[in-house]
Amino acid sequence: MAKDDHMTRILITSAIPYINGIKHLGNLVGSQLPADLYARYNRARGAEVMFICATDEHGTPAELAASKAGKPVDEFCAEMHGVQADIANRFGLSFDHFGRSSSAQNQKLTQHFAGRLKSEGFIEEVSEKQVYSNADGRFLPDRYIEGTCPNCGYDSARGDQCENCTKQLDPTDLIDPRSAISGSTDLEVRETKHLYLRQSKLKDKLDAWITSKGDWPILTTSIAKKWLHDGDGLRDRGITRDLNWGVPVKDGDNDWPGMEGKVFYVWFDAPIEYIAATKEWADARGLDDDAWESWWRTDKGADDVKYVQFMGKDNVPFHTLSFPATIMGSGEPWKLVDYIKSFNYLNYDGGQFSTSKGRGVFMDQALDILPADYWRWWLLSHAPETSDSEFTWENFQSSVNKDLADVLGNFVSRVTKFCNSKFSPAVPDGGTYGERETALISDLTTKIRAYEGHMAAMDVRKSAAELRAIWTAGNEYLQEVAPWSTFKTDPEQAAAQIRLALNLIRVYAVLSAPFIPTASAQMLAGMNTLNMDWPDDVEAALGKLPVGHEFTVPEVLFAKITDDQREEWAEKFSGTRD
Ligand SMILES: [Zn+2]
Repeated sequence: MAKDDHMTRILITSAIPYINGIKHLGNLVGSQLPADLYARYNRARGAEVMFICATDEHGTPAELAASKAGKPVDEFCAEMHGVQADIANRFGLSFDHFGRSSSAQNQKLTQHFAGRLKSEGFIEEVSEKQVYSNADGRFLPDRYIEGTCPNCGYDSARGDQCENCTKQLDPTDLIDPRSAISGSTDLEVRETKHLYLRQSKLKDKLDAWITSKGDWPILTTSIAKKWLHDGDGLRDRGITRDLNWGVPVKDGDNDWPGMEGKVFYVWFDAPIEYIAATKEWADARGLDDDAWESWWRTDKGADDVKYVQFMGKDNVPFHTLSFPATIMGSGEPWKLVDYIKSFNYLNYDGGQFSTSKGRGVFMDQALDILPADYWRWWLLSHAPETSDSEFTWENFQSSVNKDLADVLGNFVSRVTKFCNSKFSPAVPDGGTYGERETALISDLTTKIRAYEGHMAAMDVRKSAAELRAIWTAGNEYLQEVAPWSTFKTDPEQAAAQIRLALNLIRVYAVLSAPFIPTASAQMLAGMNTLNMDWPDDVEAALGKLPVGHEFTVPEVLFAKITDDQREEWAEKFSGTRD
């Protein structure tokens, strides 16, 4: 169907959050939230959108977190997935599917890619020496080995790094090494085999592909080029680990001799989950393989798809090099990304957000104190696009109070209350539009076209600034024509002004929905309409609510943040959580 009517099809993926714990606002604004903005905008413009995210569930940190929580790792992951899905939902993140990298679909697809890469000559088997724990009956990843740091004498240094002096270590550097699982010192170094993805063989192809992406943000391409060319250039990467928790190493459906008991390294299977999650979406709806393959296989319709990825800058190397290497190396017609939108970091009040230190505001805590739209607006209007940005409580209070309460909220409240008290709770008849109204329509048309341009270009801050300007234009109009004064001398003219302003509330709801979906829904409910038509023609859009159309005065859309609240929250979040 999509092919025949030339509907735009947009595939959107957000970098998948790691399973162990709740993410902070810096994580949110670096991928999921701007991806949601783009998804909502394109749906509003009539595109067919597939918006995919998932939890990244494999690897050592998940195993460690589960063991700390005293739970089997699969149970821990299922629980945490539920927690993250619930918070995402409450933040209004409109995923078409929020999958799990531990799904059966991802297991099968990851094994398929590995088998393809092997057939195409992009896998190398390498013998390595690694620490084996006799007591635990397993090889130990570096960070599962503890001992005394040879540099500073700290007695709980990990095999990859000393937490105390930050020196990078090899497990064999440690004095009196022991297993972090059992504490056993019965360790030995054994020979073991691992698989490497021969990315270096794909270097030229990747380089040419990145070079062809002249429209990508500099942040994205500069990171990719650095990894391609700095030092020895693009290095081959190990894709297997001696762990229990992960996708078992297989060559497609077949066993891989010598790789028994090993799993794929989490970075290999995590991006494949973008594809697998789309299959999870289809499976959950009882759809056949065409349904998901039309998004991902260029031989099955995906050549018409625009594929956009959102991520923080730390994830750029995996998405510009490793994952494309997996796709290119497979020799199959899988969809490559068309555009990568990457973000810098959001800092917190003079320092960094820190998950390990519990510093900053975490997603669940944010929703405990204010509804999602307050956060969505601030985060998106301050997105760290061209440089890092910083969250401060003063700035948050001032943005919310000015933009949301004084400009947008006040407009809605004044117009509906005035109409209700001087006319009736319905769009009033009488009067005609004059020069001032024509000027407003022309100004709004210019601004809305600019807003569309910024949204299509994924310029998040510019989009927010333009939307704010659109709200302000309405407020200035209202201030200037002052229907409450006009009413005393010319009630007909006041009716025309209010008719326009009531219609403008609907237009604001439509334009603002990608940023503040809950408030947008409240505005539409107040205006007693389900009409979400985009204002392609602004003059026509301002006539959608006809004379006599009834409305209700909405509750206050946005409460102001008081100085007391600001101080209380600044204090509350200055330390560490729990
Ligand atoms: Zn040390």
